[in-house]
Amino acid sequence: MQFSNTYIKLGERFFDPSHPTPVDNPQLFLWNSALADQLQIPQELQKDTDALAQYFSGNQLLEGAEPLSAAYAGHQFGQFNPQLGDGRAHLLGELLDTQGIRWDLQLKGSGTSAFSRGGDGRCAIGPAVREFIMSEAMHALGVPTTRCLAVTLTGETVYRQQPHPGAVVTRVGSSHIRVGSFQFFSARGDKESLTVLRDYTIDRHFPEINDMEGDRNVLLLEKAIERQINLVIHWLRVGFIHGVMNTDNTAISGDTIDFGPCAMLGDYDPRTVYSSIDHQGRYAYGNQANIALWNMTRFAESLLSLCLKEQPENSDAEPEVKEDLLDQIKDLINGFAERFEKAHQQMLAAKLGFVEAKDGDETIMLEILDQLTARKMDYTQTFNHLTKSLNDEASHQYLSEKLADTYNTWRQRVTQQDTDVDTIQSSMRQQNPVVIPRNHHVEAVLQACESSGSPEAALSFLDVLRNPYQETADTPQYQDSGEGFDSDYQTFC
Ligand code: AMP
Ligand code: MG
Ligand code: MG
Repeated sequence: MQFSNTYIKLGERFFDPSHPTPVDNPQLFLWNSALADQLQIPQELQKDTDALAQYFSGNQLLEGAEPLSAAYAGHQFGQFNPQLGDGRAHLLGELLDTQGIRWDLQLKGSGTSAFSRGGDGRCAIGPAVREFIMSEAMHALGVPTTRCLAVTLTGETVYRQQPHPGAVVTRVGSSHIRVGSFQFFSARGDKESLTVLRDYTIDRHFPEINDMEGDRNVLLLEKAIERQINLVIHWLRVGFIHGVMNTDNTAISGDTIDFGPCAMLGDYDPRTVYSSIDHQGRYAYGNQANIALWNMTRFAESLLSLCLKEQPENSDAEPEVKEDLLDQIKDLINGFAERFEKAHQQMLAAKLGFVEAKDGDETIMLEILDQLTARKMDYTQTFNHLTKSLNDEASHQYLSEKLADTYNTWRQRVTQQDTDVDTIQSSMRQQNPVVIPRNHHVEAVLQACESSGSPEAALSFLDVLRNPYQETADTPQYQDSGEGFDSDYQTFC
């Protein structure tokens, strides 16, 4: 394996040079061979499960790895904490894939660091397997996301109310730069590091900025906002509720990161919350765009100290932000809602098979969503039925009864287009999954993995989740909404 590590070169203010803590008895539990191939992990190594267990539990260091625990800050449920950081994770380094794209390789649950704040540095099997399943499902759904290469069991016990088998997840991400990474240096008034981080982020994620006219901070903010809007639109499209959209869990790359208390929407209701600690509904399904804006506003603030007017030497006046830059930043923040709404309309139109926008579309969209809430209808199943109803009698009958006039209005709108029905249907199919990682199935699979010590349940589930837009013989067993399960479902960080 060829590591080429750039983050560690940013300097010691960016991390704690902590190493993984060895574990008792490592065993490989899940391995993502497609991702391993993409990352050019040698076939001989991939066949040697004992070696993989040693490397991906943190017991042995891969040649070329230079472990570190990254420093970051963050707003957690709106409260600023100036020092969070990787309290149970180690970035091993970066690998280039077959296309030359750079990926972070990070162990999570691999022991403590200077940022552990009394935590044990470990991860239990349940959350580890959840991250593997959910991130693979999201990837297959076409949602930008970090991924998982491996889950290894540690042979040690982790206590979370009860004892659980311990595990280490190997996470692969296009980087681990968070809004909180910028806040870490901004809160310390460390403009030098902030500049280094900004330039690194531009080179890694938005190199096109280097050839653009304009202020680098403003351009970076604009690109980051574009990615966040795209991300939340995808979440809403597939019914994903992140659950803990703190600024430390917001990647500047615009990928989904941190699958702690995440869950999927069952019956359509924008107020849906599953996280046990989210009492105010801050991170509810339908509030995710507002929170993305809130997080991007915090990101903008963290860049302000790089946008200051030149100060005369020895001046003790409070430095001011350049007016033109402040105006541009305000325009980006104030323009977020409108940009989001436009993208949201386009996404809904695509899910509903509207090829070109027409007057009255918004009314139809709102009516359908309102009806789903009023009638407590399952989001994924309904859009799957709408897709199928164009040529399937059973779905047509079902919706005629369930949605009556609303369905007829939609059907008229969708069939009175110049495009032929097959084309409309196949484009709807690409937006509307047949199968998602439903909460009750995820929980059952995690329990089966934990009680049996075997990954079999996860592997069968993953087989289906990797083809979310296709109905196969194995699909039906994972499509049921799990009658009532979601109504008192709770997730934990
Ligand atoms: P999260 O809620 O997963 O985003 O984590 C928030 C912060 O808590 C991060 O700084 C984590 O590194 C830290 N953290 C979470 N769990 C543990 C643990 N078991 N041991 C040490 N640090 C932890
Ligand atoms: Mg986190
Ligand atoms: Mg977490």
